Formats: sequence, C-alpha cells, structure tokens
Amino acid sequence: MSLDFLTIRDIDLQNKRILIREDFNVPIVNERITNSARIRAALPTIKLALAQAKQVCLVSHLGRPNGIEEQYSLRNIVPMLQELLDTSVYFSEGLERTSHKLVLYENMRFFPGEIRDDVGLANKLADLCDIFVMDAFGSAHRAHASTVGVAEHAPLAVAGLLLATEVENLNRVMHAPKRPLVAIVGGAKVSSKIQVLTSLLHVVDKLIIGGGMANTFLSAQGVDVKESLYERDMLPVAHEIINGPMAEKVVLPLDVVWDGNKIMDIGEKSCAQIKQHVNNAKTILWNGPMGVFENSLYATGTIETAKYIAESDAYSVAGGGDTIAAIDVAKVQDSIDYISTGGGAFLEYIENKTLPGIKVLTRKVEYVS
Ligand code: ADP
Ligand code: MG
Repeated sequence: MSLDFLTIRDIDLQNKRILIREDFNVPIVNERITNSARIRAALPTIKLALAQAKQVCLVSHLGRPNGIEEQYSLRNIVPMLQELLDTSVYFSEGLERTSHKLVLYENMRFFPGEIRDDVGLANKLADLCDIFVMDAFGSAHRAHASTVGVAEHAPLAVAGLLLATEVENLNRVMHAPKRPLVAIVGGAKVSSKIQVLTSLLHVVDKLIIGGGMANTFLSAQGVDVKESLYERDMLPVAHEIINGPMAEKVVLPLDVVWDGNKIMDIGEKSCAQIKQHVNNAKTILWNGPMGVFENSLYATGTIETAKYIAESDAYSVAGGGDTIAAIDVAKVQDSIDYISTGGGAFLEYIENKTLPGIKVLTRKVEYVS
C-alpha cells in the first residue's frame, strides 16, 4: 500500500529552507552519548536535504527536562552529529533564523509551550522554514508544538525517510498482511496495552499473550497466580477477551516458570506452542518480553521466542524499548525484518493505525507542485 501523505522524496527542495523534526532523544551519561542509533537513523534524511536545499534546520527534544537543564542540552550531540555528517553544525540556543547551512536548535522542551502545543511556538517554528519534515517517528504520538503544531502552520509538511520507512513497514503488518498474521504480545502490564490487544484481535489470526501480561488472563481462566504480577482491575476485560467472539484467536501460556510464588517466565510447552504458531505464520508482529528476561534465569522464554521469529521465513516486525533490549540479548537483530525505532509510538500506531504527527502531514491529493 502506498503512503497517502507526502514524503521528502515527492518534493523539490531546491532553494528551500527545510526544518526537520528529529528524534535525537539519545541516552547521555556524563555528557557522553552511550547509544547513537537514533542519530544514525536520522542521517539519510539530513543528507538528502543537505544535498538539495538552501538551508537545513534540525529540532528535537532530549529527555524530560524541567525548564532549562544543561544535562539535557542538545549541544551535547553536536560533536557526534558533525562527525557523522562530516560537516559543521551551527548550534542555536534561540529560535532565530540564521544564514548557516546546517543549524541545530536547542532542546525543544527548553521552550515554554512545546508540550502544550502552544500556537505561538508552533508559528515561530513554522517561520523558520518553507518545508517542515517530520522524521521523528518515536515522537509522532505526541501532539507537541514541534511535532503537530509546526506541521499545521508550515507551508508544507512532509514525512522524512525514517518516518516513511516506519509507516511502510508497520502497514505491511496492519494493512492487508500476508496471512496467517501472528502477533506476540508480552511485557509487564495489561492496562497499558489493553487497547493494543483489542485492536490487534481484529486484524490478527493468532494473538499470543505472554510475560507478566499473561498472568491476568491466566487468573481469568481460573489459574491461581499467587503473588505474580497481575492486574485485578483488568480481570473483567481479560474475561471478555477469552470468552468473546474472538477467543479462538487467543493463545495463552500452557506452563510457566515460578520463583517461589511468582511467575517469572513461560515454560517449555508454551515455547513449543509459540514455535508452532511462528512456523505457521506469514507475518509476525512482536512486542513485549515473555518473562523477566533481565535475569538470565528467566530469559529462556523471551530468547527462544526471539530465535523462532528470527528463524522464520515470515515477514517480521518488532518494537518496544524492552523488546529491542531482549532482541539484543538474543543477538538476532539482523534476522528480524524490521525493528521499529518507536516505543510508545509503535504501540500507538498499532492501536490506531495512525499517529497525531502523521495525520497532520500534507496529503498527496492536496498537493499540486
Ligand atoms: P516493551 O518496552 O518492549 O513494550 P514492556 O515495558 O511492556 O515491554 O515490558 C517489559 C518488562 O516486562 C520487562 O522489564 C520484564 O521484566 C517484564 N516482565 C515480563 N514478564 C514478567 C513477569 N512474568 N513478571 C513480571 N515482569 C515481567
Ligand atoms: Mg518498556
């Protein structure tokens, strides 16, 4: 399915001032970047813009600062950005226009009004450019001034290469996937992912539930989960799902691994069951570890699951902060077809099939070049 919004590939950048919303929200310890993956993921769009446009301005947020806090200054990423792009980056603390070819503005969250999508701030950002490029998939679920507001006020709002790739890959799962489509959802809490589960039930052929999330469903089935993580409030919803019209799609653990009175991982039979469903699948979506994988004693279910997905011929997509960490532990990064760069945004996209920061992009049908 082709995208219905404009991307940076669709438009002429000659003589244009481009403002790109990046996701430069990288982990920084003692002023050092400990993982540069997000900066690297942003490079193709920046390079494309630099090669054609008159000026390229970059904005992003970093962390959750309370007002202006030096440790969250984007100045910290300038050296790495310069090195990776092999060109000089002008750093601007304020939102003034400059004549520099490549400008990085300060952390958007240092500016009052960013989070409440203040119209004045959105206009100020829109004034910096002829074309706004949204490339921060990981922030596209938040309606902030630098994601949604600026897109509403800029003359043209288009997707960057990273955002377009994310949406193309997620759409391969969510729109007309090759079937069977098998989703595997784990992790800690039912309440934070209940909407995702409900949405998924409508599109998938099988929904495999594991991790702490499964405990609430096991309890709804009558299993005594003792002191395991589970959400009593969510029992009615779990009941509805396992007794509802789509109950046949739901796959719950057959056995579990205990630590005293707590369920910590899925067991061997559960793994074998997942393997069978994964082998049968043509498309696989994975979010959430199957157990407390941070402890190697309870990582088996998660690592096995990661390996089944990696070994399968199905088209596979995975996402989620802890899921990516688990994929690293299992060392199967290269065998999964697409790993989303968004955590919350990935889940919300699955839930709603769009995001606020994507809805505001200029539609292809509205555009006459
Ligand atoms: P993601 O970040 O990939 O979306 P989550 O944040 O939802 O995943 O969940 C990850 C967390 O779930 C991990 O810290 C893991 O230890 C925890 N978890 C998985 N299974 C269990 C369990 N049985 N009991 C308690 N915690 C669990
Ligand atoms: Mg998480």
